[in-house]
Amino acid sequence: MFDSPRVVDYASFRSICFPFVRTPRMTGPTSSEQNFIGIHLCGDILRATVVRGDGALVESRQTSLDRENPVQQTAHTVKELLKLAPNVLSVGVAIAGLVDRLKDSVVESRELPASITGNLHTELMRETGLRFELENDANAAAYGEFQVGAGQGSRDMFYMSIGEGIGGAIILDGKLWTGANGLAGEVGHITIDSEGIDCICGNTGCLETVASAPNIVRRANDRLDRDSTSSLSRLAMNKEFTASDVAHEANNGDDFALMMIERTGKYIGTGVATVINLLNIERVVLGGGVMDAGDLILKPVIQEAKRRAFQPSFEATRILVATLGPEASAIGAALLARDAQIV
Ligand SMILES: [Zn+2]
Repeated sequence: MFDSPRVVDYASFRSICFPFVRTPRMTGPTSSEQNFIGIHLCGDILRATVVRGDGALVESRQTSLDRENPVQQTAHTVKELLKLAPNVLSVGVAIAGLVDRLKDSVVESRELPASITGNLHTELMRETGLRFELENDANAAAYGEFQVGAGQGSRDMFYMSIGEGIGGAIILDGKLWTGANGLAGEVGHITIDSEGIDCICGNTGCLETVASAPNIVRRANDRLDRDSTSSLSRLAMNKEFTASDVAHEANNGDDFALMMIERTGKYIGTGVATVINLLNIERVVLGGGVMDAGDLILKPVIQEAKRRAFQPSFEATRILVATLGPEASAIGAALLARDAQIV
């Protein structure tokens, strides 16, 4: 069993940065006239936002990522946005990958072109003359929700993104807390089923293996294969269905789809209960495409978290759906750039 070392490619599911020591010393209240640009490089998409100093979203764009020239495309996008909002102080870039914040570099990204790991930071500064802050995209999304989304008004917040994978980020006392070597918040890889299936992290039965979008589809297909009476489900007629289809059918009242969404909610709620017991956290914000199912999934999440968590701890926690949508990382990157402005 232990004859071969387990090789784990953390970059495939986790973006890391060094322990986040960003103690902002503002020159004064950020003027609402000042603007900050946020870029999110993720898969094949480049998202760009302009956020005012007071947190208001001024502009939002998205385009296909030029995989041949991602750095030049990012610099070009920033220059275009400068025409729209000239009073830009700095730019935040959220990266789907491992980010070393102390060295301002991308360590590794499976999703993005290899050129991203070169002199991204230096080249962007040289091309635009602006200051840049790089951050992992889950952390950036968490910061966005914390500042202007569902985490607004809280001091401590846990963010969970449930989509193709399950990521997480921790904000304590207003700051991202990333752990000893940047891996804090990996809620997708806590064990939910000790006899579950293999996970990409090397463990088995992780939350991600049952509750991510591809695994909702896998569980639904397994169930449909086993139980022909599930023909009552419209899903059975669509062999290539997605997790969104499951949510859509559940919304339309399909019993089978509804059961799949509720069970997924229970798995997520089990993970949330663990987070609550561990951190006694003020707020848990749930984002990512799977949460598009809305109350259908939120209710079983809350019920299961309530059932499993320490009661006084559960009662001190608000569990909410994220509000910034797919722009969360780009908005959060702009706000991280704002709050990294030091004297
Ligand atoms: Zn795992």
